Amino acid sequence: MSVLVYLEHAEGTVDEPSLQAATVASSLTGGDEDVHAVMASDTVSLALEGALPVEVVHVAAHDAFGSYAPLAIAEAIVELAGTLDATAVVGPGTERGNEVLAHVAAVLDLPLAANCVSVAGVAVTRVRWGGSLLEEARVDAPTLLLTVQPHAVAAATRAGDAPSVEAFTPTLSEGALALRVVERVGAATGGISLADAKVVVSGGRGAGSEEGFAPIEELAALLGAAVGCSRAVTMAGWRPHTDQVGQTGTKIAPEIYIACGISGATQHMAGCKGAKRILAINADREAPILQSADYAVIGDLHEVVPAISAAIRAARSG
Ligand SMILES: Cc1cc2nc3c(=O)[nH]c(=O)nc-3n(C[C@H](O)[C@H](O)[C@H](O)COP(=O)(O)OP(=O)(O)OC[C@H]3O[C@@H](n4cnc5c(N)ncnc54)[C@H](O)[C@@H]3O)c2cc1C
Repeated sequence: MSVLVYLEHAEGTVDEPSLQAATVASSLTGGDEDVHAVMASDTVSLALEGALPVEVVHVAAHDAFGSYAPLAIAEAIVELAGTLDATAVVGPGTERGNEVLAHVAAVLDLPLAANCVSVAGVAVTRVRWGGSLLEEARVDAPTLLLTVQPHAVAAATRAGDAPSVEAFTPTLSEGALALRVVERVGAATGGISLADAKVVVSGGRGAGSEEGFAPIEELAALLGAAVGCSRAVTMAGWRPHTDQVGQTGTKIAPEIYIACGISGATQHMAGCKGAKRILAINADREAPILQSADYAVIGDLHEVVPAISAAIRAARSG
């Protein structure tokens, strides 16, 4: 019997959240259990970097793994977990790690405890609601499936021999390969990444329409800021999902976040709580975002935002 951990990697270099997942996986082993790792690759001769806290690394080798193919990776994990008679399968709680383990859970028809910060037997503590609460739960399943919240535990390395590496070719279903990355297209962000921007100007439902973002874009351009939005906006099709700030969007940490016509739902605030300062522009003085805002302007954003832009222009020309 064994514990299996899924490792994400770039050309053989395992990322930090996966090392943390491996550390949790090693803490789950009973006396006679080994920790095995599985990595997906399009080559069998994967050159591993770093000391991994596992006994054996299995390389699931398949041409399809040259790009991200979550269901195919999940099928490889399920096959290996069966061969090893794994009592637990652990993965990193990254977006992709959670997606792959969710497919594993669906294939096995078992529950998945995602984003765990601690595990003791079948008792888990995990992050819920975009980090706003911790849930304690007991996982009732013949195989424990879980992901580890990134940076909740320190990654341990293992002294002694490097793990042995064994390659296998997984048997994949025909449908598994229908789900894979086939092309990468750079985001048209004007060179400013939402995640790294020092200033973010966002619009919510209060912007009213796709065209209603014109004054928000104008202010962002003046400030050298990235444009963000709420989920109400992406759901309406006014902006692409890549602009969404929040629990199911991008997590931002700017010096200042200017939120225009955004109510401040928990799921939105989960994405901007790293902002050093928040300026809320809202027609409603009772809007929840005002509880988190450092500054607020109560008014119609279609008047307030152009007025700010005009004042910036006037100050710069003066
Ligand atoms: C599982 C889950 C995940 C989610 N993930 C996210 C996420 O990642 N990001 C996210 O944003 N949401 C997310 N949501 C949705 C979230 O709960 C809210 O529904 C959403 O954030 C609301 O968007 P909003 O603030 O733009 O709209 P609303 O809540 O409708 O607020 C609009 C605001 O605009 C103001 N307003 C209206 N007109 C004007 C005007 N002319 N001038 C100034 N102010 C005006 C109103 O007073 C109001 O405060 C998620 C929900 C669920 C269930």
